Amino acid sequence: MKPAAFRYHAPKTVDEAVAVLAAVAAEDGRVLAGGQSLVPTMAFRLAKPGHLVDINGVAALNRLEVSGGKLVIGACVRHAAFHRPVCDGPLGKLLSDVVHHIAHYPIRNRGTFCGSLAHADPASEWCAVLVALDGEVVAKSARGERVIAARDFFRGIMTTALRDDELLIEARLPLPPADARCGFYEFSRRAGDYAMAMALGLYRLDGGKMTDVRLAVGGAEVNPRRIAAAEKALLGAVPGDAAFRAAAAAATAAVDPMEDAITDAEYRRDLVLAVTRRALERAA
Ligand SMILES: Cc1cc2nc3c(=O)[nH]c(=O)nc-3n(C[C@H](O)[C@H](O)[C@H](O)COP(=O)(O)OP(=O)(O)OC[C@H]3O[C@@H](n4cnc5c(N)ncnc54)[C@H](O)[C@@H]3O)c2cc1C
Repeated sequence: MKPAAFRYHAPKTVDEAVAVLAAVAAEDGRVLAGGQSLVPTMAFRLAKPGHLVDINGVAALNRLEVSGGKLVIGACVRHAAFHRPVCDGPLGKLLSDVVHHIAHYPIRNRGTFCGSLAHADPASEWCAVLVALDGEVVAKSARGERVIAARDFFRGIMTTALRDDELLIEARLPLPPADARCGFYEFSRRAGDYAMAMALGLYRLDGGKMTDVRLAVGGAEVNPRRIAAAEKALLGAVPGDAAFRAAAAAATAAVDPMEDAITDAEYRRDLVLAVTRRALERAA
């Protein structure tokens, strides 16, 4: 099928983009970033936006830099930018580990980090990263700018705190300390498929015991989230099989898995057990 008719807008500045959005939001005006999720849904007529606001010509949205202890990722930064570490320390390496799990090479060349956040697919790797690191996003509209913390941003399957007239201009990821250990693991049926479950673990060592622990699970529930019970199981423990198994069991007990035609909750719980343990093993 072909998409339904729409009007195309190509602003050159952020102010122009938010002015257009303010004018067309009520007529289902949508931001077009990489188009890797929006265009297929338009082709199937699952989405029929009246207006597309294409932000690809807004040069200011290509910003990718470390500022104030955070990695700042502008709205037009593509997944492929992370194929190699974009910053020193564990974050650069973590992001380049994670990006290879996202779709396929051509999709990574167009799709954007911030587009993934705005789209909020439960199985998005970048959404899990934002949550695990307690990142934030900046939303801008003609009314002004606001910063939204990761924990307040995701509101359900493909639903976020963004308002219809807001442009997500950048995401910010705090840089973990240089001695942080990070591990990511996901399970999908084939390389490039959406994950059925993923986990991201981070910790530091203090006297041989784990401190500053973070453990997030994605793909299993409607949104990724940090699992407090699993973090508690790791905190103060010596990294190793016993602690990792205890954390994985805690994560498994804590999740409320999604079900679909081919995957029941019990199977997804089992995946959470496996991906959590393996993510922690990778961190170690
Ligand atoms: C075959 C296939 C496999 C895929 N596999 C994966 C995968 O494994 N993991 C994964 O995470 N993704 C996967 N994707 C999706 C891909 O990563 C998309 O690039 C991503 O979901 C959306 O980014 P985009 O820049 O293409 O956004 P678009 O498609 O342009 O937009 C998506 C939605 O977000 C909104 N939006 C985009 N940017 C902004 C912004 N700055 N401000 C406000 N709203 C905005 C749009 O209006 C639209 O509603 C896959 C896609 C395909 C086609």
